[in-house]
Amino acid sequence: MVFDNESKDLTQDEKFDVAIIGGGPAGCATALSLLKYGYSVVIMEKTDYNNLRVGEILPPKIQVPLSYLGIWKKFLNENNSSPSFTILSSWGKKELHENNFIFNPFGKGWHVNRCQFDAFLAHASESAGSRLYLKAKLVSFNLEDNNWKLKVACDNKLYHFKSRFLIDATGHQSAISLQFNANKIVHDKLIGIVCYLSPNSKMTSDNHLLIEAAECGWWYSAILPDQNIVVAYMTDADIYKHGIKKSTTFWNDELQKTIHTKSRLSSYPTQYILNVYSASSFHLDKVSGKGWLAVGDAAIAFDPLSSQGVWKSLQTGIHAAEAIKKYLENKENPLEEYSTWINKIFCNYLLERQKFYSSEKRWPDSDFWKRRN
Ligand SMILES: Cc1cc2nc3c(=O)[nH]c(=O)nc-3n(C[C@H](O)[C@H](O)[C@H](O)COP(=O)(O)OP(=O)(O)OC[C@H]3O[C@@H](n4cnc5c(N)ncnc54)[C@H](O)[C@@H]3O)c2cc1C
Repeated sequence: MVFDNESKDLTQDEKFDVAIIGGGPAGCATALSLLKYGYSVVIMEKTDYNNLRVGEILPPKIQVPLSYLGIWKKFLNENNSSPSFTILSSWGKKELHENNFIFNPFGKGWHVNRCQFDAFLAHASESAGSRLYLKAKLVSFNLEDNNWKLKVACDNKLYHFKSRFLIDATGHQSAISLQFNANKIVHDKLIGIVCYLSPNSKMTSDNHLLIEAAECGWWYSAILPDQNIVVAYMTDADIYKHGIKKSTTFWNDELQKTIHTKSRLSSYPTQYILNVYSASSFHLDKVSGKGWLAVGDAAIAFDPLSSQGVWKSLQTGIHAAEAIKKYLENKENPLEEYSTWINKIFCNYLLERQKFYSSEKRWPDSDFWKRRN
């Protein structure tokens, strides 16, 4: 809620070791890790988790950070996820290739409702001792005598906080880092045009992730725990813009050209509400500075093809907490080491992404594929 009167109900400065802006997976993982070290943490999240959120497919190795954070069993017991045993992909050829998780050391993958999953992480952080402000808006922040002074509007009140460290966990917006003159190095113009559909009748369980390459992008679909299906067309922003100029039903036109995705959707309604999300890969040229750092998508964003966005955000949160601990203990160069580590995982990711995209060669004249090969 936006505050409407600066003089109304001002609270006293309250001091925390670390203030986290953004309560997504990265922010919550950072909070949970810092709490393990005994630091006090405040999270300011601009929503109440009732907004639309994408990124529902979690790989089997998600078990590793969730176990480290002490919430793996809770995640399993919450019953808000459904297991996924297989990825079916038509990539490089028309026929489907089956990748069964039976050979994965961590077993199955998971499909989640992202609002519920993110709210679960936030409430786990709160139960572990974080202070959590929802619908909170950071009004101003500045560094004074090695302490951050933050003004936050929430519930029609203005709160004043002090913290020794500040974290940018605002996702794709990198809202804090950009104010420290960090620049986004953007590697593509990928967007996701996403819709959710309820089945016309009770479905048999086909809880696989389906990926299908197409002439101007690729599709994914997965059944979520509530039995709705998420379907996304991934293409470049300019290709989509050009496509909808020519045909307002571009998304559906492209869907009709697929084989497997079209067939999977045959028992779903044909009325779609589409939401468009930026899904570009990028990294910041600076992910940390005096008393601050960026975690998760705020620092580096991956292509959804990897299904590693959430996993990466949890991992960066865990590593960030270690760096912050060293920083607050006045150890040498922890933030530089964190930045080097972030650069390394982003470089590895770019190599993997290149390898994967270049294995699809069916449309050599398509701009989408030319840009990636
Ligand atoms: C179409 C699409 C499909 C995807 N599919 C997958 C997938 O299947 N699997 C996967 O692992 N990843 C997927 N991803 C990527 C994944 O969603 C992200 O990598 C992941 O959500 C990043 O987590 P995060 O915590 O870093 O950022 P976010 O999840 O973006 O969280 C940021 C949080 O900060 C809050 N916030 C933002 N600005 C402010 C502010 N100024 N003040 C306070 N709070 C703020 C937001 O409300 C949000 O809660 C997909 C992405 C897209 C676009």
